[in-house]
Formats: sequence, structure tokens, C-alpha cells
Amino acid sequence: MAPEEKSTAQTSQRAELLEGTRISDDIKREVATEIEELWRKPEQRPCLAAVRVGDDPASEVYVKNKIRACEEVGIRSEHHSLPCSTTASELRELIGLLNSRDEIDGILVQMPLPEGIDEAAIIETLDPEKDVDGFHPVNVGRLALGRPTFVPCTPAGIIELLTRNEISIRGAKTCVVGRSQIVGRPMAQLLTQHDATVTVCHSRTQDLKSVTRQADLLVVAIGRPGLIRRDYIKSGATVIDVGMNKISEESIARDLFGDDAARRMETIKRRGYTLVGDVHPAEADTVAGRRTPVPGGVGLLTVAMLMRNTVKAARLRRG
Ligand code: NDP
Repeated sequence: MAPEEKSTAQTSQRAELLEGTRISDDIKREVATEIEELWRKPEQRPCLAAVRVGDDPASEVYVKNKIRACEEVGIRSEHHSLPCSTTASELRELIGLLNSRDEIDGILVQMPLPEGIDEAAIIETLDPEKDVDGFHPVNVGRLALGRPTFVPCTPAGIIELLTRNEISIRGAKTCVVGRSQIVGRPMAQLLTQHDATVTVCHSRTQDLKSVTRQADLLVVAIGRPGLIRRDYIKSGATVIDVGMNKISEESIARDLFGDDAARRMETIKRRGYTLVGDVHPAEADTVAGRRTPVPGGVGLLTVAMLMRNTVKAARLRRG
């Protein structure tokens, strides 16, 4: 259906869902094949070290998912789980050791770190050649200059999602809401490199909806559950929802999820919460051409791209 047609059928239409499952599986399969071709012996395969400090339950789940993905594709992994009491100098010491160990190709430090540890200073202690998250200033600078680098996994995954779904980026009017170091900023840079016309919005943007509803491609990464409603979205637009927010109130779930509300309220009863993005799904469905679901959208691609970056680090380091 053409975007114009979608715009006229506001009550009956539903946006096409851009699921992350198929594409993340494809990327992981490609990574697995590359590993088998390049490193026949298991002990030579790329190795990722994951470092987690403290007992944040969400971080624990994220790291577990990353380690599981390593197992799926044939990347070796180490999980360093440190107590909340870890000091910045102890953490720096561990990272120094991981930097110096030749068999380690990639290091990821799961954020957030406990209060009192300066995250930016810790990132600077990583060897940029092992910085598979692409957060080290050297890699951030290379990305800004348009030079080959480790691109942060979430925005890199979004580019894969768009290109593999044949959604045109060149010349598109795009809006990125959020300007964080890990999503918004690198996303805007990548879209610019792909020849989109990019507007970046943030918490000080005035009359946000008047800007977002100009965009044919809208990427939202703000951490505000369901903030982007119908009147923020151009008819027929592609909406990429990066947000991952937990909600536990059934009344909010009823408002956000429309037809899906019963299932989501069941999840809240069972698990205590359900996940919602920054986009109001029920309202977005009545106006957008396509949107990514939460969960099941961008998050899956983030993990797949981490696998790809780890293999890239191993290839580059080992010549
Ligand atoms: P940050 O908190 O680092 O940044 C949020 C950004 O949103 C800031 O630039 C902030 O503006 C802006 N912002 C906040 N409120 C508003 C508002 N009301 N209107 C406009 N802009 C606003 O968040 P992250 O980028 O780290 O994460 C954003 C979301 O994405 C979170 O829900 C997070 O959980 C999720 N996420 C998901 C990932 C995935 O794999 N799916 C990966 C990473 C994050 P300002 O700069 O002015 O403060």
C-alpha cells in the first residue's frame, strides 16, 4: 500500500511491523559462517569479554543475552561480574588486563556503572581496537569523520533494518529524537552518511511534534514511555522505536496497547511489568506506514551487531 493510501485510512489501517527477529537471525547466521570460514579451530575463534559491575537486574539480563548470542554464533566469551563495592581503580585494572591479553578481541563494559564510577573515564581506558561497542573517543571521532570504525551497535542495527527492508534513506527527511552518545548522536551521523536530511531533537526542542511530523523516517530514543503519539507522526512515516521502558500499571497498558492490551496486562500480572517503547503503539499504528515493535524490534539487532563488531575486531587485530 502506498504511503498516500495509508494516510487516508486512519481508523482501519495498521502500520506494518518491522520485526527485528528475521534480520537479527540473518546477521547472526552470516557472522557464524564467517567465523567457521576464518577460524576452523574452536580455540582460535574470536573472544568477547563482558564486564558487569553491581547487581542491576536489567544489566544482568542484557549481558546474559549477549553471552547467549556469542554461543549461538561461535564466539568465545568471558563474563566478569564484579560486586557493587568495586572501585574505579579495580575496574581500570581489570580492563588493563583484558586490553593486554592477546586472546581477547572485544571488551564490553555493561552500563550503567554504579554511582561514583565515572563511565566516560572508564570507557577511555579501553583499547580502541577492542572497543566493540564503539564508545571510545577514538572510535567516536572516526565515526564523526566518516572513517572506518566500530559503529555503536544500536544505530548500526537500525541501518541494517532499514536497508534490508529496502526502506530508502537517501534524500529522506529524517528526524532523530534523542542525542545520547550511544544512540541519538551516532544515529544522526550514520543517517547523514547515508545521504538523509537529518534533524536532531532533544529535551529542549520547542514544539517537538511540529518537527517530528515532518519526518518520513522518525527514530526515537528518549526513554519516555509512549511519548510519541499520533499527532507526532507524519502519515505513512517509518517509525523506529528504540525506547525500552518498563511499565507495571494496567491502566497505562490499556491505553498504550489497544488490541494487544489484554496480552500485555497478562504479562504484567505474571512478571510484574511489560516493556513499551517511546512510541505509543496503538496510536502510531493508526498513522505510521511502518513501525518497529517493542520488544522484538531494535533490541535484537543491537545484540546481532555486537557479534558482528566482535568478529570485525578479531579480523582487524589478527590481520
Ligand atoms: P539517554 O537518557 O542517554 O538520552 C535520552 C535523550 O532523549 C537525551 O538526548 C534527552 O535530551 C532526550 N529526551 C529526553 N526526554 C525528552 C523529551 N521529552 N523530548 C525530547 N527529547 C527528550 O537515553 P539513551 O539514548 O541511552 O536511551 C534512550 C532509550 O532507548 C531508553 O529507553 C533506553 O532503554 C533505550 N535503549 C534501547 C536500546 C536497544 O537496544 N533497544 C539500546 C540503548 C538504549 P537531552 O540531551 O536534552 O537531555
